[in-house]
Amino acid sequence: MTCIFCKIAQKEIPSDFLYESEKVVAFNDLTPQAPVHVLVIPKAHFENAGELSEAEPLVLAELFTAAKKIAQERGLDGYRTTFNTGASAGQSVFHAHLHLLGGRPFAWPPG
Ligand code: AMP
Repeated sequence: MTCIFCKIAQKEIPSDFLYESEKVVAFNDLTPQAPVHVLVIPKAHFENAGELSEAEPLVLAELFTAAKKIAQERGLDGYRTTFNTGASAGQSVFHAHLHLLGGRPFAWPPG
């Protein structure tokens, strides 16, 4: 198994989970782009959000409910959730992950 997020989800690489359920975990991004930058991922491997949505729509929904819970715990009054899909859109880790970003203002349109 070479996927770094699979290793984190399976606890082969130590990580502090901010949320864990049977099928989902969340942990801090290694290179945070905001005061709060959390990654919420399925434990099972799917390359991107589209594949996850087709195979496990309830798990995809849980990524958002976990993000909401974490945002509330962190006292965020607003936050951004993002999936990058494909290298041209900025995806660098090919295990589906929801970025939860908060704690600073965000511009629109995104870069
Ligand atoms: P993306 O570019 O959308 O695929 O996002 C991948 C994210 O994973 C980036 O924000 C990285 O900083 C983050 N990342 C990569 N490796 C790790 C790791 N070992 N632990 C936590 N975050 C990571």
